[in-house]
Amino acid sequence: MGLLSFRGGIHPPHAKKSTEKKPVEHLVEPKVVVIPLHQHIGAPCEPVVNVGDHVKVGQKIGNATSFVSAPVHSSVSGVVKEIGPKLTLGGKTTCVVIESDGLNTISEEVKPKGDISTLDGKEILEIIKEAGIVGMGGAGFPTHVKLSPPPNKPIDYVILNGAECEPYLTADHRLMLENPESIIYGLKALMKVLGVTKGYVGIENNKMDAIEKMTKAAEKEAGIEVVALKTKYPQGAEKQLIYACTKRQVPSGGLPLEAGVVVSNVATASAVSEAIQTGMPLVQRICTVTGSGVKEPKNVMIKTGTMLSEIVEQCGGLTDDISKLIWGGPMMGISMSTLNIPATKTASGILCLNEADATIPEKSDCIKCGKCVDICPAFIQPMLLDAYALRSNYDQAEKLRVLDCIECGSCSFVCPAKRPLLHSIRVAKREVLARKKRV
Ligand code: SF4
Ligand code: SF4
Repeated sequence: MGLLSFRGGIHPPHAKKSTEKKPVEHLVEPKVVVIPLHQHIGAPCEPVVNVGDHVKVGQKIGNATSFVSAPVHSSVSGVVKEIGPKLTLGGKTTCVVIESDGLNTISEEVKPKGDISTLDGKEILEIIKEAGIVGMGGAGFPTHVKLSPPPNKPIDYVILNGAECEPYLTADHRLMLENPESIIYGLKALMKVLGVTKGYVGIENNKMDAIEKMTKAAEKEAGIEVVALKTKYPQGAEKQLIYACTKRQVPSGGLPLEAGVVVSNVATASAVSEAIQTGMPLVQRICTVTGSGVKEPKNVMIKTGTMLSEIVEQCGGLTDDISKLIWGGPMMGISMSTLNIPATKTASGILCLNEADATIPEKSDCIKCGKCVDICPAFIQPMLLDAYALRSNYDQAEKLRVLDCIECGSCSFVCPAKRPLLHSIRVAKREVLARKKRV
């Protein structure tokens, strides 16, 4: 099959060379972990442990309080020292602070759950729910919710996202090289839950070694196809990935399930495999620590609750000219003002940029070149949305489909006038959504 892709998109520098060939390293056991009880989209968890309790690795410490939520488990063995509000990426949230005893004693609750050949879909779904698995490639949507579409929305395909189109990040790449079988096993589990017979793994063609490994891991699996995607940003965005693999279009304002597709990340599939085969819930993940502002860029296996400062320290620490810290990649990541926050299930990257790489150019007036319109993968008009957002004309912004913006940042990247288009479009999106809620 030839290279699959979507219309629009950009070609930012990959900047992956400093980590893509480095095997994943395990960090020194953290002495203390600060585990947020809200690491996902949806309702926060309620603590089910008390200060002074001894906990083990994989033991549940936070219970989901609603359907759109996911339980939280301990990533270390040790003693609960505190339960209370702590600074996290999204502001202050309740965290369980655990002092590790360094023994890594695994909870008795952690045991193999069986095999997908004998487990039925409902049983697999329950394992995924209880393991606290959330989407590990983005905002952390609880996976069991995604796997529970309404009966009138039949699903035909499961697509695993191995595109990793964000510059700098190589965590998924390393996972595909180092543990391809777990990803395929996880994909089969997701397919069984949804009763689907066709699954895809989409990987950009700047990762040919991963395409080879994954193809080999899937060679005996009928119904699973590993597909090479054209290297182009944002190839890993859900709608773009769905179009590339199936040629189906998600309707404006709609969800992937309206195109009969469920999309999951390769790391999420691997976590599903782990939860079934070993019984270990989601308590660790691979994270890329990289950029010109960190001394030894590398991929590391991190335990949830480990402070980012400790992770970066084990990568040689920050350079003297550090200027910008980003959670995730440079295009869709979130700026951080401090590393004194804990890693969560969604910590795919810590990007550290020095002054030279972080300089924001001066913006000037729009020259009406149309480049932002040409490349917008959502087929909307960034320059007009920017103009309406700046005039607080949210009615017009809504008419021009501001809610279809996938916040990929391609328009800001390509703009020769260096206008921060995504910034103003985000403001308009938030305002339109808030007004809809008020109605
Ligand atoms: S308008 Fe939104 S979807 Fe289009 S390029 Fe800009 S950020 Fe991406
Ligand atoms: S790319 Fe920038 S300068 Fe060109 S039309 Fe869009 S906003 Fe205007």
